[in-house]
Amino acid sequence: MSQGGWDRLRRTRLAFSAVVAAAAGVFVWAMPGAVRFMAHAPGGFWAMALAALVVDIPLFGVAGREDFRIRSTLSVCFTFAIFVLWGAATAIVVQAVAGAVSVAGQRYQPSAGLFFVSRLVLGAAAAEVVVNASGLRPMTAQGAGLTGADLLSFTLLALVWLAVSYAILAVARSTVTPRGLWQAVTDMRFDLISTTSSILVVAPFLTTIGGWWSLLVAVPLILWNQLTREQLRHEQQLSREPVSGLLNRQGLAAGMRSITATDLITPQGPRPFGIILVDVESVLDINRTLGRDLYEKVIGVAARRLIDAYGDDLAARLSGEGIVMLVPDLTEENALAETQTALSLLEPLVEADNIPFALDPAAGVALSPQHGRDLGTLLMRAELAAGDARRTGRRAALYLPRAAELAERRITLLRELHSVFQDPARHREITVLYQPQVDLDTGRLAAVEALVRWTHPQWGPIPTDELIEAIEPSEIMHMLTWHVLETVAAQVRRWHDQGDQFRVSVNVSVQDLHKPDFIDQLGELVRRHGIAPRRFIIEITERMFISDPERVREVAGRLAGQGVGLSLDDFGTGHASLQQLRELPLTEVKVDKAYVGNMVDNPADEAIVTSVHLLTRALGVDVVAEGVEDQRTADALAKLPGVIGQGWHFGRPMTVDDFQGWRQHGQRRRVSRVR
Ligand code: C2E
Ligand code: MG
Ligand code: MG
Repeated sequence: MSQGGWDRLRRTRLAFSAVVAAAAGVFVWAMPGAVRFMAHAPGGFWAMALAALVVDIPLFGVAGREDFRIRSTLSVCFTFAIFVLWGAATAIVVQAVAGAVSVAGQRYQPSAGLFFVSRLVLGAAAAEVVVNASGLRPMTAQGAGLTGADLLSFTLLALVWLAVSYAILAVARSTVTPRGLWQAVTDMRFDLISTTSSILVVAPFLTTIGGWWSLLVAVPLILWNQLTREQLRHEQQLSREPVSGLLNRQGLAAGMRSITATDLITPQGPRPFGIILVDVESVLDINRTLGRDLYEKVIGVAARRLIDAYGDDLAARLSGEGIVMLVPDLTEENALAETQTALSLLEPLVEADNIPFALDPAAGVALSPQHGRDLGTLLMRAELAAGDARRTGRRAALYLPRAAELAERRITLLRELHSVFQDPARHREITVLYQPQVDLDTGRLAAVEALVRWTHPQWGPIPTDELIEAIEPSEIMHMLTWHVLETVAAQVRRWHDQGDQFRVSVNVSVQDLHKPDFIDQLGELVRRHGIAPRRFIIEITERMFISDPERVREVAGRLAGQGVGLSLDDFGTGHASLQQLRELPLTEVKVDKAYVGNMVDNPADEAIVTSVHLLTRALGVDVVAEGVEDQRTADALAKLPGVIGQGWHFGRPMTVDDFQGWRQHGQRRRVSRVR
């Protein structure tokens, strides 16, 4: 935990202990007086005490599961009347007992309940202090009627009681969370208004009736309480998906607010909880191939299992194929086990329309407050963890801050590169290096691959892989692609003017191919610089190809129409089928460096390189071996006819000037060893 986190925890413990200790002191002080009084208490007192105990109990929630979001403190109306009629000591004891019943009935965590009761007790104590200090006596004569002056002192005392009770809460709350004092007050406004209004309306009335009749006053209060609950329940219905019964985002946010509710403070701060995100990606295939109806049914069955286990006020569906569960009291120790339990519920096959489906779920979990305090952050982090789980095959994963740091770093890179493109003076931070490709039959330079580099003035060189990964989902990718293409085209023109004829490969992203005018713009670029289209090769990776084979095939046809070449990069990492390869108008295939780098020592890798070589010959396309790092590999490759080699052994990616030098000296030296 950070220093700030520790400080906050220490402050929280201090605030919590101070409030609970003070309340305990008050309770001990009050006890003897209260016991003495109760020994001879009149029936009216018992009526009010009983009403205080029952008034906050949810009517319809007693038997079933009550929505823990709805809490009330209407018991204060009765304890305040007891305070006015029979003194502070008795009122404090009744308040403590009524508070305890209320927190038990509403299933608070014990320490959160303790805090809840303590602040009510301290409110009563504060009112007593004011009575002693000011001589402000509330009327004590029952049935004597209420004068204006009585009502005034009565109102003032009630306000002191409530002000102290809620101020303790607001201050404690603002100490334990990063939200300010005003925000803490705003958070509890609903409870504050409802309690203040009922105490001011009901309590004066109670003090004038007295006797067992006061029980009757409890009836409208219980109904009022019930009305509020019904209203909130209705609101909750609106926050649900009608078909699956799962909460939507609004409902989830409300559920989260209820767990971390303002008055539930524990020594650790607000109540901890976790968000488990179960991703059932495989059902997307059902949607694609079998239709939306069946897809909804399958999700519905999965949702029902989770609702049955977690309750319908804790399970939500936000978008597409993810189901989210809000789980109170989840900690680092129990989070993974709980997530695995949730997953095991989705393990058995799901049957829809008499067809069995396997869900193949993966889940991620993020915890509050460690991993975030707002829903957006927690969801994002649970999703990152779920992605992690799927990638690593672990199925369930707890969010690791590293993943988020990575996402944040990517966002920072994206923003910064965007500002580079907006400021022409910074364009020179982006450069293009050229790496030679050598024809192993002749030892001549066959082509060069253009590789982009970004050197940030403060951060230094940014690894290109990382850069591309960060910007690929955004428009910045196109900006970079076109910046590189423009730079390369100008350079090709210069080489052309010097009489050089080799080809130049440029990497593009599949996002670029999604732009409808990409090919036309490429044609325009080539014409503008007056260079032959066949001097250009566009590289896309095999992975990009299989992510959208239709699109790539269509674009490849148009590229070929323009006379521009197409290269399939990192071949062997994307599992394209032979059929798909045959249908693609390719110029060359680049065997991934993972196979080439090991081929000398690993017969399996050598077999793969050899068979790709055979395959490319059959398809009539060129083959480039990437990642040739040493002489042994170059020699092994040279045994296969028609192979082009690229790698550090021949030359690293270089600036135009270094490349010029390499051609004059290095090329001859390296290649003489190949042959
Ligand atoms: P790639 O297209 O497969 O490029 C080959 C990568 O292998 C380059 O990494 C290169 O520096 C590296 N390499 C070359 N010879 C050797 C060798 O002998 N051994 C080893 N271990 N590595 C070697 P680089 O420049 O960091 O680029 C990484 C990837 O970033 C590229 O992989 C390409 O997919 C992407 N990329 C680079 N420039 C661009 C660009 O302008 N646009 C797009 N969309 N992607 C680019
Ligand atoms: Mg490449
Ligand atoms: Mg490659």
